[in-house]
Amino acid sequence: MNRHSGAILVLSGPSGAGKSSLIHKITDHIGPTYFSISTTTRPIREGEVDGVHYHFVSEEEFKHDIEQEMFLEYAVVHGNYYGTSLGPVKKALKEGKLVIFDIDVQGHDAVQNRLSDITTSVFITTPTLAELKKRLHNRSTDTDAVIAGRIEMAKREVQRISEYDFLVVNDNLEEASEILISIAKAARMKIPTLQINEFVHKWEEES
Ligand code: 5GP
Repeated sequence: MNRHSGAILVLSGPSGAGKSSLIHKITDHIGPTYFSISTTTRPIREGEVDGVHYHFVSEEEFKHDIEQEMFLEYAVVHGNYYGTSLGPVKKALKEGKLVIFDIDVQGHDAVQNRLSDITTSVFITTPTLAELKKRLHNRSTDTDAVIAGRIEMAKREVQRISEYDFLVVNDNLEEASEILISIAKAARMKIPTLQINEFVHKWEEES
């Protein structure tokens, strides 16, 4: 009698906290999922593929999509636009999938405002700021200026951890992924208000 309609799992946290590695590690263990591919105006990085990591578009195209109300949410992050397209999310939810978003705190806020009754959220971070700095420098995909920007943003984002349902400290990838698997499985079981009413109604009828 468990529900099989879709649900949303929002993952936020500083770049360098290991969100992508965690998502990669858990996807085979949490049932049918759809990983939302965001649209962005930021330049494509080495190793990224258009349509896989992001849909890379011009600022003009992005603004056109805003006007057409194509986005569930969008925000400016590090000076570039990022947005979640509504269409594929709606489709995946209809198919009963767990829709996973890797979005920032502003995006999380917008998703909670619109879809809180099917949303579970997790903030993922390193154990310390020093560890984050170390990981960002070791990754060496960004310039010093970009890294400094990410660190400033991380400092601001951690102030908003209390807005999330869960905090996962990614100290050890194995442990963090075990925790995230449990959260993802539970997220699927979150019941929208409408379905609670339906369930109670049916439950009472069969007396
Ligand atoms: P990056 O440029 O490192 O891929 O992502 C930078 C930040 O943008 C990350 O914090 C990521 O979570 C956030 N982000 C990526 N896609 C979206 C989106 O569609 N909406 C919002 N609000 N943030 C996003």
